[in-house]
Amino acid sequence: SLAALINAGTPLDDWPAEWFAVQDNIRQTGLLLSDNMPAGAGLRAALQGGAENLLAEIKQSGLRGRGGAGFNTSLKWQLCRAAPATPRYVVCNADEGEPGTFKDRVLLNSYATQVFEGMALCAYAIGAQHGYLYLRGEYRYLLPPLEATLNEMREANLLGANILKQPDFHFDISIVMGAGAYICGEESSLLESLEQKRGVPRVRPPFPVTHGYLGQPTVVDNVETLVAATHIAVHGGEWFRAHGTAQSAGSKVLSVSGDCTAPGIYEYPFGISVQDLLEACGGQDAQAVQVGGPSGALIGRAEFGRKLAFEDLATGGSIMVYGAQRDLLAVVRNFSHFFAHESCGFCTPCRVGTPLLRKYIDKIASGHGTPYDQAEMARLAMVVKRRSHCGLGQTAANPVLDLLERFPQVCTERLLHQDYAPFFNLDAALN
Ligand code: NAD
Ligand code: SF4
Repeated sequence: SLAALINAGTPLDDWPAEWFAVQDNIRQTGLLLSDNMPAGAGLRAALQGGAENLLAEIKQSGLRGRGGAGFNTSLKWQLCRAAPATPRYVVCNADEGEPGTFKDRVLLNSYATQVFEGMALCAYAIGAQHGYLYLRGEYRYLLPPLEATLNEMREANLLGANILKQPDFHFDISIVMGAGAYICGEESSLLESLEQKRGVPRVRPPFPVTHGYLGQPTVVDNVETLVAATHIAVHGGEWFRAHGTAQSAGSKVLSVSGDCTAPGIYEYPFGISVQDLLEACGGQDAQAVQVGGPSGALIGRAEFGRKLAFEDLATGGSIMVYGAQRDLLAVVRNFSHFFAHESCGFCTPCRVGTPLLRKYIDKIASGHGTPYDQAEMARLAMVVKRRSHCGLGQTAANPVLDLLERFPQVCTERLLHQDYAPFFNLDAALN
């Protein structure tokens, strides 16, 4: 059993392989997932046109980072290319840690060549000779097949020296394992970890494009961004731009989970409404949806007409559906435990604030909270949001704040001494 293996200290590598055989469960394909292009197609097209042309196509495509933040990809690559220092590096952020997000796992499992090709394309554009794929610790079982794919690509001259006989293009990739810390998905902590140091977020700016791995210019891109770059190299920027919305070009790969009849992986052009997605996955009866994981937004039925796009509801790919019977307070309590556990401890608002938020929500969930506790929780949530050093702390209070703003009755009906509620001004605490 699992407990026996853990108690015996059995190394992960010796666990039965079938335990890791996770089905990809792709429900809806789109621009990326439907196109099983031959290995090397992106590189061949890019080498024919040259690095300047590749950058122009990426710019034309309007591609934005798929990890959640949506920074302009061509600008990131341009800034790195323009940085005077060498060597430069490409890093693929495969430390997919946002609860409810598993779309990069599928891309790494079924589309690995396109991920590595995207890294090689980036290297070609910025003038890098080495890249790292930083793999989430829990995805360790993907390491052997990923290494095998790298070897196949080396044999096919898609990696290594003089790629596709190009005299000045040398590039290879190493895979580095993460160790299970959520904070190492934040790019600057990831770089610290890659340098064999403790994963603590750096102060930005300077950004990795000028001061990244070992202080050198580095592009850090999400797995899906790199896959999209491979497709753009083959089909062109115009093709990509023709899909999605004005500010969010192309498609988004989504991992849908929770109270729906068809959870799994979906790919849709940006601009699809939450309602349409719910109909596709059999989650029409949902009372709420968590868009973008706990660091994103918790929305209710009144907002299901909103669009998945950077200009409306941004998401790194996580969609969690909560049915009518789901206890939202229990959901938020779970997330507050997650953030308190994952806080790296570097800065005080998050190190101290996230366990305090956990304490308040535990108290309210157990039926011992008062209106004072609720108002204090709201005030503290704003401090954590506004004063934390990095994205983890700045978003850790989102589930609590969204619950208080959008589903206030869920909290208040569990409070003791509700008669005192008017004395504690929740609105003031939230502003
Ligand atoms: P950010 O907006 O600070 O940066 C996004 C990217 O753009 C980074 O690569 C950054 O280096 C670059 N960038 C930003 N400004 C720049 C500039 N002026 N010059 C050069 N480069 C610049 O966002 P972030 O803090 O890196 O990431 C936050 C996002 O991560 C959130 O949207 C969150 O949803 C998402 N997230 C994703 C996961 C996941 O598993 N995919 C987990 C947690 C959080
Ligand atoms: Fe660490 Fe949290 Fe501060 Fe980020 S906000 S540096 S995770 S303590």
